[in-house]
Amino acid sequence: MRDVVILGATGSVGASALAVLREFPGDFRVVGVAARRSSPELARIAAEFPDAAVAASEDRELFEEELRRAGWRGRYFHGADAAVTLVRSVAAHDCVAAIGGTAGLRPAFAAAAMGLRILLANKEVLVSAGNLFTAAVAAGGASVLPLDSEHAALWQCLGARAREDIARVIITASGGPFRTWPAERMARAAPADALKHPVWNMGRKISVDSATLANKALEVMEAGHLFGLGPDALEVLVHPQSVVHGMVEFVDGSVIAHMGVSDMRQPIQHMLFHPGCRAGTLPRLDVAAAGRLEFEKPDMERFPLLALGLDAMRRGGSCPAEYDAANETAVELFLAGRMPFGGMAAAVGEAMRNAGDIALDSLEDVFRAHARARETVGNFVAAL
Ligand code: MG
Repeated sequence: MRDVVILGATGSVGASALAVLREFPGDFRVVGVAARRSSPELARIAAEFPDAAVAASEDRELFEEELRRAGWRGRYFHGADAAVTLVRSVAAHDCVAAIGGTAGLRPAFAAAAMGLRILLANKEVLVSAGNLFTAAVAAGGASVLPLDSEHAALWQCLGARAREDIARVIITASGGPFRTWPAERMARAAPADALKHPVWNMGRKISVDSATLANKALEVMEAGHLFGLGPDALEVLVHPQSVVHGMVEFVDGSVIAHMGVSDMRQPIQHMLFHPGCRAGTLPRLDVAAAGRLEFEKPDMERFPLLALGLDAMRRGGSCPAEYDAANETAVELFLAGRMPFGGMAAAVGEAMRNAGDIALDSLEDVFRAHARARETVGNFVAAL
């Protein structure tokens, strides 16, 4: 029996993780759940797992009492560091790190310090603080299994192969809702258009990132840290059918691809049972039904946030962290109706102009880099 904490339990990945854990009650026990808000959804999860600790960073008054009246009897944590306190207070084996965005950094570092097996869905931890996180994982005796579908795929393709055997990895992208839109139409796209992802059903921030392809830039940086690869060994291909999730090309020219259904429960179940493999109830891939599989190079002109992200990786230093925060802020402003779709790349571009010179020796340095990027994007939008 393995004890699991889920950070970001009410999000899209959290819901998929709970669905898998629910199916295997004899193998896993949910011992802690963290969410940003004390929502009715979090209350439902607490009622289902009455002994699990609950953390809500933004909790409403009387939420804990409400949970107790419904029969929940776990420990309760609230406030800005609720998820961090939860990770430190609950003895767990596994941590599903699925808090979206830069808010997921501190809790993931806490899981690393606690020596947990981290099933990592949050890309920002590696994008913004990859070197620090890798060091924290090693120092804490923790381990990382990637949950992001592309990285879980690459990780499965790689198996136990040595880093020297890898020539490059290819990360596939569905292309998002604007894959075939002309640039002029994209520039005026509304949040509702950007949130209509053709393949995956995801949270709002990651859906916008999938529409701009910033998501792929983040995933390239994430893969760089996970697999120890530089920018020249990382490629993005648009693959609208989303059947192939990742490919690894070895130095002898052989290529191994991973195929699967577009369902986050698949990588989650795979990683939870690693090094084993368990039959379950997930839908099966029907390759014949998929029919044609197409691959094309991404259009960097129409998707400038992808180009800016890849450039941030090449420049290194604090550039990836600043790109990460600038993009997150731009997405928030776009979703709030405060800037057009086409404005996000311009705002992030502005933040990247003077980026890169902050030495990232601690998590606080990362947050300083974030703050500078956010401020630049904020000023840029205020001047529009
Ligand atoms: Mg992904």
